[in-house]
Amino acid sequence: MPHSTVPDGSWWLAALGLLVLMVLAGAVASSGPSEHWLHTLAPLLLIPAVQALRAADGNALSGFAYMLLLPTIWFALYGRLREVALSILGGSLVVILPLILIGAPRYPAVGWRGAALLIIVLATVGPLVHNLVATAREQTMTAELSSARFRAVFDDAPVGMALTPEHVRADSSFFLVNTALCAMLGRDHAELMSLPLRAICEHDDLPTLLIDAADTERSAQFEVRLRHRSGRTVWAAISRARLTDLRGQSPQIAWQVQDITGRAETDNALLDALDLERAATERLRNADRARTELVSSISHDLRTPLTAALGYAEMLADGDMGALSAQQSATAATIARSLTKLSTIVGELVNLPVGSDERAVSVQPVDLHLVLEDSLHMVAIQSALRDQQLTVTNNLQSARVEGDPVLLERALVNLLSNAVKYTPVHGSVAVAAHADASHAIISISDTGEGISADDQLRIFDRFYRAPRDEHHPVNGTGLGLAIVKAITTQHGGTITVRSDPGQGSVFVLRLPLQ
Ligand code: ADP
Repeated sequence: MPHSTVPDGSWWLAALGLLVLMVLAGAVASSGPSEHWLHTLAPLLLIPAVQALRAADGNALSGFAYMLLLPTIWFALYGRLREVALSILGGSLVVILPLILIGAPRYPAVGWRGAALLIIVLATVGPLVHNLVATAREQTMTAELSSARFRAVFDDAPVGMALTPEHVRADSSFFLVNTALCAMLGRDHAELMSLPLRAICEHDDLPTLLIDAADTERSAQFEVRLRHRSGRTVWAAISRARLTDLRGQSPQIAWQVQDITGRAETDNALLDALDLERAATERLRNADRARTELVSSISHDLRTPLTAALGYAEMLADGDMGALSAQQSATAATIARSLTKLSTIVGELVNLPVGSDERAVSVQPVDLHLVLEDSLHMVAIQSALRDQQLTVTNNLQSARVEGDPVLLERALVNLLSNAVKYTPVHGSVAVAAHADASHAIISISDTGEGISADDQLRIFDRFYRAPRDEHHPVNGTGLGLAIVKAITTQHGGTITVRSDPGQGSVFVLRLPLQ
């Protein structure tokens, strides 16, 4: 133990020995994995070494005392709190013990002050540095943990993910990619990160990728075609977001890439199918138009010679061209009847509305009350001749529909003359018409022969006539109801039939009010 403020050279040797020991302990500790106590040995040995140096240098007057800070700082940086405390205690003993054991006058008062100051510095610096280091270590661990979590989420994400610098160009490349993106593009991580964007994006879609990416303030979504290693196209839905660190610095772009090849191919196939269907519909429409025009023009061409033939046949039958035998005039009359029938068919063909889905040619407000009255006039005589009871309840005084009065009258006359035609002598025909809030409703009932369920499905087809007993023929072309249906549809209305064979029929016409 030192006993004087006078330097004592014999302590140099002890100090040197302790310092050598300290260096050796430090070397062993840092040479490989070793026990914790071995790591604490070197700084602990510095404490007696400092005491030896002080004794050699004159104890209280020696500046070596401040070397006692070193073990405390070392433990604060790398050791545990109790080792910090141990180094403070050791340092304090080194400066205090000589004062206590030897005391004044060999130790002047300045020795106490120096010792107290050193102890205060040790007790302050040690815990403070230790605390700072612990906080820094905790923050580092938190940052490492969140970085590890991010990596795990990023790498295990089921969709493709990648990071790029904030400003992307055609020759930029990803600096981080995940497994899903590698699988999607058939490349490994290193290869994908070494390729410029232009190498993995279809040429035409590259501007979309870059322009949208340049606008980094908004998050964006778009679809582009990427290129698989094999050369096949991968349709991808891409969304991207801007990432920054906690201080809003070091911006990067995070890309999320979803493979939508299956969906895109289905969409394209659907679009192709739609185009095909549109073309087919257009072809059908053209064919229908051509067919209707053909029928109309043939009918027109037939009309002129037919009218002439009919005129001559009637003149022949009437004897205007000289007297005929009874057989000759009967034959001429048959020819005239057949020509009349033919002429009726041609007339119906010419007047058949073109295409059931097109609107009427002339559109004007139509007073349906008046149209019904006019139509009834046309069939009244026919009905009277058959001695039928014709009952009319026309409550359509204020009913106006939008359409063509001529066509509407034609539809009504067809329905009414059918009712009269297919109802036997002495039968009844009843017409009832009214309007509700949105429609005019005209029903035409008869007590005629009725229509079978099968025939009800077909009577609105062109040229369809229900099969009938050849002993009771009824004139007709099978076009009347087809015309009614076409006109009704053109006016946005509906025509329906209810009937029981032998019990008569009810036709109901509904037309939207103006
Ligand atoms: P047409 O009367 O010239 O034969 P339509 O198209 O007017 O042609 O009628 C088609 C078929 O519907 C008729 O042949 C007939 O069998 C049946 N039909 C139409 N109206 C009635 C009715 N009121 N009663 C019974 N059958 C009818």
